Amino acid sequence: MPPYTGRFAPSPTGPLHFGSLLAACASYLQAKSAGGKWLLRIEDIDPPREQPGADHEIVAILEAFGFEWDGPVSYQSANAARHIQLIERLRLDRLAYPCSCSRKDLAGVPRGPLGAIYPGTCRNGNRSRKRVAIRVLTNSQPVAFDDGLQGHQMQRLEVESGDFVIKRRDGLIAYHLAVVADDEQQKVTEVVRGIDLMDSTPRQLYLQALLGFAAPRYLHIPVIKNDAGQKLSKQTGAPALQADLATQTLAAALDALGQMPPQDLASGRLCDIWDWAIQNWDINRLVSQTAIPWSKYALAAARNGLS
Ligand code: GLU
Repeated sequence: MPPYTGRFAPSPTGPLHFGSLLAACASYLQAKSAGGKWLLRIEDIDPPREQPGADHEIVAILEAFGFEWDGPVSYQSANAARHIQLIERLRLDRLAYPCSCSRKDLAGVPRGPLGAIYPGTCRNGNRSRKRVAIRVLTNSQPVAFDDGLQGHQMQRLEVESGDFVIKRRDGLIAYHLAVVADDEQQKVTEVVRGIDLMDSTPRQLYLQALLGFAAPRYLHIPVIKNDAGQKLSKQTGAPALQADLATQTLAAALDALGQMPPQDLASGRLCDIWDWAIQNWDINRLVSQTAIPWSKYALAAARNGLS
């Protein structure tokens, strides 16, 4: 068995909030309680969505919360050459092809839970426009996996997403390709992240299979939702984490993760909270929850002056 390696892989689209903290904590505690490594990777491959300085803010707030990662922080953009190489390999193997469809061309195609289902228009040749995307060829075989928390999952990519994009028309590398490439390169053995990313896992498993990569285990934790049922995010008004409230916020995160921290932990030292959390970590306490109600923690956050 390779040594346990986990990771936290935020995109620098804004400051971390309570929802991102839950993913960071769960992946960290899974790794630390297994005596494994935990890596921090900034997924900075989509400049139009990024916020200048967010990468430094993310690193600083994780430091302030007492996270300790192994090795230097890695930046996904540094791997661009390898991403391109992998795309070329798929093209040479005729597993990927250029697609000239514009957004307008795809406006009327059927949509499913994963978004527009690509009908395969350019499979047999594209209209040689200047700007092309690269899509990976899918098939109707089921892609299945057993999630560490959510149980058995399955998708048939050809009908649920269609051939999906691995390089965008604007020249940027698509998330699925980059995440698969970097998890493999960093020898990640378990991916712990929010359940909102679970439906992208079959596409990632599929790419790993095409590229001959070993698949990590996947474990998706419930996301925190507001009263309107929306995922807590910058867009839905999640306040940024604050360094001076690290202990209270961390204790609240452990509570949200179902760990039942003792009440006086929040007033203790950060290192004592982490010691307790690593010793008592039990991922299975998250099983029965599908979503964590933000209202409970928003109230606590307001009391603590968080919002
Ligand atoms: N970079 C992605 C995000 O911030 C997460 C990628 C992953 O954990 O696989 O949403």
